[in-house]
Amino acid sequence: MRYIEPHAHMVSRVTDDYERMAVSGCEAVCEPAFWAGFDRGSAAGFYDYFRQLTEHEPKRAAKFGLKHFCWLCINPKESEDVKLAAEVIALIPEFLNRPNVLGIGEIGLNKNSRNELKVLEMQVDLAARYKQLILVHTPHLEDKLKGTRLILDVLKSDKRIRPEQVIIDHVEEHTVGLVLDEGFWAGMTLYPETKCSPARAIDILETYGQKRIWLNSACDWGVSDPLAVPKTAVEMKKRGHHAMAIDKVVYQNPRKFLGQCSKFKVG
Ligand SMILES: [Zn+2]
Repeated sequence: MRYIEPHAHMVSRVTDDYERMAVSGCEAVCEPAFWAGFDRGSAAGFYDYFRQLTEHEPKRAAKFGLKHFCWLCINPKESEDVKLAAEVIALIPEFLNRPNVLGIGEIGLNKNSRNELKVLEMQVDLAARYKQLILVHTPHLEDKLKGTRLILDVLKSDKRIRPEQVIIDHVEEHTVGLVLDEGFWAGMTLYPETKCSPARAIDILETYGQKRIWLNSACDWGVSDPLAVPKTAVEMKKRGHHAMAIDKVVYQNPRKFLGQCSKFKVG
């Protein structure tokens, strides 16, 4: 099996995770900038995090034969403070030419607040000005549908944004159709407790098809499984999916989307 892990927070994981991913057929891991489990105290905290994502983590992954890519932004959970967000956004352009940076993400909404929306618009503008791909985080649980609608409205109202260059992540049964119908890519996050289980994700694939859709573990500092993607591939096999169909979802699709950035190369 070969696969790409398109969404994993490896700064929170131990080296055993890299080794297990490599042994399971992972060829590349992509790390969106996200919440650290606590709020950073200043823009300088984000500057160091961006250095960690672009300098240190690729070296750590390379020790296990894995390519490491990342996305940069201020995440929605820390977007309530618009002044701090503006300071962080101003730091990002100097990192965009670094060899492992794929785009702006994971931006989006957490509590669907006015300030979060303002910061989302600022980061969509940043992506448009620098012609970057976008990776979007959608809120969890009961806020997801409303948040997804608000996010799609922001993206569609900016005429510089092309839907095929945006992936909307953490989709579930009630949001995946909305995202795909508008021409965006959709990401399904496989979590042991919340979000999609492997069985639910495969049900969604069987309902909506395999076009413009990928699977990820979004493993981070909380309860999560860095091998969720290959384990779901095994579940697909058990449910009778053809090897080609599995390869499309776990390898070819992420390669196609991410390959829109010329820096992304695997195989
Ligand atoms: Zn994430």
